[in-house]
Amino acid sequence: WEKISITANGKDEIAEMQLAYNQMIDRIDENMAKQARFVSDASHELKTPLSVITSYTELLQRRGKERTEIFDEAVDAILSEAGRMKHITEQMLMLAKNETIENVRFAPVNITDLIREVVRSLSIAYNRDIHLYEESPLSRMVSADKQKLYQAIYILVDNACKYSDKEINIYLVDKEEHVLISVHDFGDGLSENDQKLVFDRFYRVDKARSRKAGGSGLGLAICKAIIDAHGGYITIDSQLKKGSTFSIHIPK
Ligand code: ADP
Repeated sequence: WEKISITANGKDEIAEMQLAYNQMIDRIDENMAKQARFVSDASHELKTPLSVITSYTELLQRRGKERTEIFDEAVDAILSEAGRMKHITEQMLMLAKNETIENVRFAPVNITDLIREVVRSLSIAYNRDIHLYEESPLSRMVSADKQKLYQAIYILVDNACKYSDKEINIYLVDKEEHVLISVHDFGDGLSENDQKLVFDRFYRVDKARSRKAGGSGLGLAICKAIIDAHGGYITIDSQLKKGSTFSIHIPK
């Protein structure tokens, strides 16, 4: 047998280990609580369209055969709510995939070309002008997962289109270590409190407005997960009734 004596130094080490262990347990608890909240929020989000679908199907069963206008209304509502459920489930899957950093495939990406693709697609979808300004000279190449970075920029520009009806400007700036992509709108803006919460899953400032615009409250959570996986970060600069600037800082 070998006697293990605990010296003053040994006691310190045990205390340190205990502290690290407690911190780890706290983090696991926190993550489990987050997961539980996500499951409960997701179920709630899916329950709403599901109950609309159920009520309209019952209405169809009772009166759909004799009244064509009821038939048309019910089928339209069912299709639209089913589309909504599809969108929410697709976004949840996207979030789950993007939260695992192993899925990111890095390759050289020309950031100007990527933003141009987003602008082209959204200016057609919303039939409005979106301006892109870039610093000159600019080193345009970043190491990124092209498809995911496209998604992240798309979400920010899509939000600018959804939540403002004025001008939208995108600025691309070279910052030595990283590239800065700022999406600037002159819409409603966000309060300081909302700025802290908008990256939370399912958080929406105005639920009705987001729902009308086809939103699910997951866009910014997905955007953040993608940028985190690239080792970058997002910042918000916003003022109520003046507008918002969402900026992605992406390492080169
Ligand atoms: P959604 O699908 O509802 O758009 P997001 O996660 O993308 O979900 O955004 C969360 C909420 O943040 C939105 O519902 C909206 O209230 C607010 N928001 C996002 N972008 C903007 C913006 N550019 N201007 C004002 N509010 C915004």
